[in-house]
Amino acid sequence: MTAENAPHGTRAGIVVTGTEVLTGRVVDRNGPFLAERLRELGVDLAHNVIVGDRPEDVRGALDWMASLGMDLVVTSGGLGPTEDDLTADVVGRWQGREMVLDEALEGRIWQILEVVRKRWPGLDEAALRASNRKQAVVPEGATVLEPVGTAPGLVVPPGEGVGRPGPTVVVLPGPPRELQPMWETATQTDAFRAAIAGATEYRQRMLRMFGIPESEIAETLRKAREGGVDIDRLEITTCLRRGEVEVVTRWEPTEDAVYEAFERVVRERHADTLFSDDGTSVDEQVAALLRDGGATIATAESCTGGLLAGRLTELEGSSAYVLGGVVVYSNDAKAKLAGVDPALIERHGAVSTEVAEALADGARAALGADVGVGITGIAGPGGGTEDKPVGTVCFSVSDGDRRITRRTRLPGTRADVRDRSTTTAMHLVRRLLRGEGDLAAGPR
Ligand code: ATP
Ligand code: MG
Repeated sequence: MTAENAPHGTRAGIVVTGTEVLTGRVVDRNGPFLAERLRELGVDLAHNVIVGDRPEDVRGALDWMASLGMDLVVTSGGLGPTEDDLTADVVGRWQGREMVLDEALEGRIWQILEVVRKRWPGLDEAALRASNRKQAVVPEGATVLEPVGTAPGLVVPPGEGVGRPGPTVVVLPGPPRELQPMWETATQTDAFRAAIAGATEYRQRMLRMFGIPESEIAETLRKAREGGVDIDRLEITTCLRRGEVEVVTRWEPTEDAVYEAFERVVRERHADTLFSDDGTSVDEQVAALLRDGGATIATAESCTGGLLAGRLTELEGSSAYVLGGVVVYSNDAKAKLAGVDPALIERHGAVSTEVAEALADGARAALGADVGVGITGIAGPGGGTEDKPVGTVCFSVSDGDRRITRRTRLPGTRADVRDRSTTTAMHLVRRLLRGEGDLAAGPR
């Protein structure tokens, strides 16, 4: 048996359709959603392609997926009532199936359209009837998924005449709020179950670290291998995201012991920087620490212009612990709104650990918060000096008893520096709330 025809798990591809997604006017949210769901089912996702609303291009993507031996293809988009919505028709014919009018389905869609007709009483009824009918024309033998909006989804196995065993195609609408519930329905169907019958069970774990370069992980992998951990039996992917290193490992249940040995090596080498082993983000951890500790927080931000306050308030329930924040961009604002002594700025410069500390204290005092955060830095691209180059950012977090202050130099563009500043601040708040000190000094 060669590798080519060796048994493999279930393989899948995603075909996202829509010229608006292809051109980048709309950011694809369906591919990532489906990728995660497929992973949970143990289906091996091989490709996610985006194609425009042209039948030949959608067909081309399907041909390619079939040529790669995919067991399952999931499409998104192109199920609406208009001319350019052609996915159901393309997929049905590609699977060698007749397109037939499902009259009962037509009736059910018409009922859904009642609501639309009531809202816009002037609509041309004949046109509405025609588009209603179009959406009720489905491939013969396909499983129909009840509409969440007005478009039904489909699960379409290959027809007998096409001469290939797969893939089964799941056809879903484009709007994420329609696609997501309909995906759940699709997974319950017999046709879907049959298509993924060969799926392997995988386990997955994510470890997140802050304050190390990605190269350190490469070194850890080397060390693990040298230490006798057969890491080739694991699928390890590392990525750098918003200043944090994420290590995602996937393995088959028979390899549990290998994974455990690998995680032990990571824990040993990165005890100080490993902050999450259960998928939680630093934002969620900070929120939980503040909520559970009954503590409140306030910010005084210069170079981040309120991004940290924005990030702190992204999670629901943040009103329980976020009191507020001040954006103190100019020296004047630092003095007026955060009570920073102008002489301090004069002496150390606006970007200095001294001013960061005064900002943290000022935020606490101005809002009566338990924890104060101060950020001041040079986001660039201009404004850097030899002494304080672009990317120099000073942070301070304090709860009145304890304080962590750091000066660091962040890489990247203006946007990167500002974003990574919020990540650094989040980690400093986390460490303060957990009673830990700062990480070892050094560039981050
Ligand atoms: P409709 O009945 O709304 O036309 P449809 O199934 O035909 O539904 P599309 O026409 O492809 O879907 O997309 C409709 C809208 O849904 C898009 O304009 C876009 O706002 C959103 N949408 C489509 N695909 C995606 C995607 N991959 N990610 C995020 N949003 C999407
Ligand atoms: Mg459409």
